[in-house]
Amino acid sequence: MAILKIVKFGDPMLRKVARPVEEITPRIKTLIDDMIQTMRAAGGCGLAAPQVGILRRIAVIEVEEGKVYELINPKIIAFAGEQTESEGCLSNPGAYGITKRPRAVTVRATDRNGNEYELRGTDLLARAICHECDHLDGKLYTDVQIRPLED
Ligand code: ZN
Repeated sequence: MAILKIVKFGDPMLRKVARPVEEITPRIKTLIDDMIQTMRAAGGCGLAAPQVGILRRIAVIEVEEGKVYELINPKIIAFAGEQTESEGCLSNPGAYGITKRPRAVTVRATDRNGNEYELRGTDLLARAICHECDHLDGKLYTDVQIRPLED
């Protein structure tokens, strides 16, 4: 496994739309392992492939230690409610913004074994799912923030 370089806000990579994964090759599995290690090393709770310079629709999320979700070609299929909370990004270290997100979301994705599954998340997990799915479409939390969080 390897720790990858995380690209920062201002890098055009973060504004591109990532391509779907058509085949889960050993290379894709290695990328997922590296993304998990990179996310943990950076102390984050989510990471999307464009943040490590790979324009593929892949994200990893770990809002609860030891419980990692691997999302390949994720698609949010339902959402409900609303929450207004602070949000940050590993590509914008040290900064936070207040965003409005759904309280609960359901995402459909594929795991590394090629199995499709659905994940329902509320609160922080819902925010992470929205945040990481946005990355795959070249969107950043600052696009939806109501205001930056002041120190
Ligand atoms: Zn982010």
